Amino acid sequence: MAFANLDGVGDNLYPRAGNAGMDVVQVDVAFDWYPEGDGVTGVEGTLGAVATLDVKLTADRPGLQFDVGSMHVRSAMIDGTVVTVSHTDGELVLAAEQLFHRGDSHRVVVAYVGRPEPIDDGTGAEIAVGWHGLGEHSYVASEPSGASSWLVSNDHPSDKAIYRLSVTTPDHLEVVATGTLRLRQPGPRPATTTWIFEPRDPIASYLVSIAIGRFDLTEDRAPRTGVAIRHAFPEGRMAEFAPVFAATGAMIDTLSELFGPYPFEVYGVLVVDDSLGYALENQTLSLFDTDLGLNAGSATVLHELAHQWFGNSLSVARWSEIWLNEGFATYAEALWAEQRDPSYDIDEAMAEKWRNGAHLGPIGEVDRHEMFGPAVYQRGALTLHALRRTVGDDAFFALLQRWVATYRNQSVTTAQFVTMASDLAGRGLDDFFHSWLYEETMAPLPQPPFPR
Ligand SMILES: [Zn+2]
Repeated sequence: MAFANLDGVGDNLYPRAGNAGMDVVQVDVAFDWYPEGDGVTGVEGTLGAVATLDVKLTADRPGLQFDVGSMHVRSAMIDGTVVTVSHTDGELVLAAEQLFHRGDSHRVVVAYVGRPEPIDDGTGAEIAVGWHGLGEHSYVASEPSGASSWLVSNDHPSDKAIYRLSVTTPDHLEVVATGTLRLRQPGPRPATTTWIFEPRDPIASYLVSIAIGRFDLTEDRAPRTGVAIRHAFPEGRMAEFAPVFAATGAMIDTLSELFGPYPFEVYGVLVVDDSLGYALENQTLSLFDTDLGLNAGSATVLHELAHQWFGNSLSVARWSEIWLNEGFATYAEALWAEQRDPSYDIDEAMAEKWRNGAHLGPIGEVDRHEMFGPAVYQRGALTLHALRRTVGDDAFFALLQRWVATYRNQSVTTAQFVTMASDLAGRGLDDFFHSWLYEETMAPLPQPPFPR
């Protein structure tokens, strides 16, 4: 039947996320932002969009299917021909009556419009994800499933694409986005400006970010590696925020030494004048709200940066294995402290983390409501420290570097990590990982003497 492909990519936590049988390679979206309404819909804060997607079929499929939330789809074309559109419950099916063949590539154009709004993710964390509009100020925070509130996509981290974003706004507003600003030019209507951003590397849909408002921008370079840094702070508040993120360059240099080169062409933070309540590692442009931006300790600043390696360059193939993001970013906080502060005793710090977290349950296969709970972070970090003290520093750091280099710009699974760890350690580590990831009770941390 035509709707046989309403299933997603097969994520056990988000069964409808993404779409099976399709690889989206490149997405080019031209947005038109009308903060006062577009004069047609009469609604304030209207976003018009024309998305061009280059897709490749990885299986035979009836119709081409995408994720797009409550935005109104006006029309769609495949390879230049207008096609039928069915849009129900966030699933967009084009040309359902047509069979598409494995291996074929198609260019899909979708025109849509609406007032984008955050959606309830159902993680139980009571956080709304996706597009956040604040009058003339808007930004996105999409993890894990909010991208469809503003993008037409294959909304799952297992399918990354190059997202080229063009945004037209009234002249008095500015735009920042993931990737690098390639062009800023007069827009198609009077008193508008068009901003075009393009990333060097593919991005998972939940890590694509744009923000519209007015900003103070800074530019810098990491002292040793020379990685380009650009931050965007709320206009007029540079003096408050710049000091909080002043160590970013030193952090990039240190993490590049530990994990391998910084994975993208640019980094920075975006601070938005809102109270989102959490920070988010959008690719090349981590997001902080003003409260967190002011009070973020170096651990939080470091954590979001570390995600550029663990979570962004290497993304989870299944959301239930999110410890591969959060455990690594949390352990990176301790590695940074160990590098910076000679008096910091990482074994003592981890022993304390273990005592505080002794009650934390297994993390290898979490449910939706556990995805951002403390176990994934703390037991995840402890798992990595226990691994380091089991296999020794040489094998452990060689593993981190090989992990990052091998799966750059791809998605990963726990099974792949266990296999690689066992290879490098020269022995099977299935029992070790089974105990740390899947058993109800956390194993004790290894005690000295430790292997080198
Ligand atoms: Zn995190």
